[in-house]
Amino acid sequence: MAWIDLSVCILLFVLLVYVFASVTITNLHKAYMAFHSAMMLWPFSQFAIKMTEDPILQLLYVKLAFLDMAFLAVGWLYFTLLLTNQSKPPKRSLSLTIPIPALVGALLTIWNPHEWFVQPVLGGYSERIYGPLFWITAPVLIGYGVVSLYLIYKTLVSNHSARFKKQVQQVLRGIVVVLSFIAADIWFNVLFPISNTVIPGLTSLGILCSAVFFIIAIHRDKVFDIVTIAHQDIINTITLGIVVLDDEEIIVETNQSLPAEIELRIGDRFDITAILPKEGPSDSIGLFIRNYQESPLKTAELDVLYTKAGERYVHLHVSPILVGGNRVGRIISFQDMTELRLLIDETTLQNEILHEQNQSLITMQQELYLTNEKLRQMAITDGLTGCYNREYLTQHLEHEIIKKKDSRNPFSILLLDIDFFKLINDNYGHMVGDEVICSTVNAIKQKLRPQDVLARFGGEEFIVYLPETSSEEADLLAEQIRFAVESNLICIPHDNQTLSITVSIGVLSIHEQPHEEVTNAKAMINDLFQAVDQVLYQAKREGRNRMVGAVR
Ligand code: GH3
Ligand code: MG
Ligand code: MG
Repeated sequence: MAWIDLSVCILLFVLLVYVFASVTITNLHKAYMAFHSAMMLWPFSQFAIKMTEDPILQLLYVKLAFLDMAFLAVGWLYFTLLLTNQSKPPKRSLSLTIPIPALVGALLTIWNPHEWFVQPVLGGYSERIYGPLFWITAPVLIGYGVVSLYLIYKTLVSNHSARFKKQVQQVLRGIVVVLSFIAADIWFNVLFPISNTVIPGLTSLGILCSAVFFIIAIHRDKVFDIVTIAHQDIINTITLGIVVLDDEEIIVETNQSLPAEIELRIGDRFDITAILPKEGPSDSIGLFIRNYQESPLKTAELDVLYTKAGERYVHLHVSPILVGGNRVGRIISFQDMTELRLLIDETTLQNEILHEQNQSLITMQQELYLTNEKLRQMAITDGLTGCYNREYLTQHLEHEIIKKKDSRNPFSILLLDIDFFKLINDNYGHMVGDEVICSTVNAIKQKLRPQDVLARFGGEEFIVYLPETSSEEADLLAEQIRFAVESNLICIPHDNQTLSITVSIGVLSIHEQPHEEVTNAKAMINDLFQAVDQVLYQAKREGRNRMVGAVR
């Protein structure tokens, strides 16, 4: 019947382990639970050996005690490695190798072949003789402690922080104490018993002392509380306001970053409508409240404006706390967006200013372009007549000659000079003279083709470039121009009279461009101008109001 109680005890222990393994506590807590249980198992086994007469049970407890010792030895070494590696877990291969010797020792203990591990004295195990397997297993287990000592020694002589060394020293004390007690136990109770009396509980005492060292270290360094303290610190110092509710909408946690309007007490029932500002867009607030009340499993968001401590724009976010798919509560966060909003407003303003500046820059650029265009036009135009000036025509010709240097297409040049123009000036004045020049230009333009280029050569002389024009075509065109000018009746301003003038025209047609001369287009053009001037001079000489042609 005693088995029932034992089973219940074991079951309760399993349940305890289950609870601690499954709840949300740190791994450190869980590891310490396992270690502390193992420490408890040794004295329990020693007690149980003495409490029964049944040698089978006694042997079971002896084996349990040594299995536990193997577990503790491996645990110590792991713990030391973790500590001395500054919380980095040891390498996987090393982690797997470490427990092997202890595992072998544990197996030999359980097996106890030919009672080579432990033998009964007087038919029971409350007094016992340890065999050769014990003498193999015990040093192996003590070896774990020695390796731990060595690691700790190495850490203490290296240059770690003082605080870290203090922690390591505490562990060192624990190991030294437990190893000393175990050594004393073996010395006095196994190797050299004093007048056959057993000193009880030596190893248990050692375990108790090392546990005390542990607990002092845990309390002093707040090892277990560090994460919770850090969480609390974070919650209290972040700028995000936080309210945690349970599934009954009772407030279980708040922090200090809530908006000034919101005064909540832990333990009160939460009312979502009470924390929202009275004014604001009622549509979105209504929708938010409806979502909050009707869909507790969904997240909900709302931007609100609190005005108690100045204008604060706050982003509210509600989300359920789910554990295994079940809602156990809610978190409501309040994020102050005022600074961000101001920043966005400022950026928008800056952007608008930039846009305006950009617009005026574009306008200035356009004006500059137009002015440049005007200047360019002015630079190539004759002010009086509006036709091109001599510079433009020279450049144009240069360009044409270079461009077409390989083509054999002919071109022609006309040079026109108003006959007896001085007389017009003398008789009617310069103003009328200017009028006559302009009117003559118009008459000439009437006869030109789109591709022809007319320019004022100087005074009352004009030049016309006729591209791709043979001498016959040029002569014909010159004759038409001459006739048009002759027929052009010019009104004299403030006078009812009209007058007509004539022009003399020199026509130079170029049928073949000499290749070698094209390299110096400027010289060639000067040469052409001189040549056409000669032809014009000839037309003047031959009686004016005529055209004279020449071909090159
Ligand atoms: P010819 O038949 O030999 O050409 O006789 P001409 O009187 O026309 O002689 P010439 O071509 O040498 O005279 C040009 C005159 O044109 C001289 C100058 O006073 C006048 N003139 C030059 N440019 C202008 C101008 O822009 N406006 C006016 N009104 N007269 C100008
Ligand atoms: Mg002249
Ligand atoms: Mg003249």
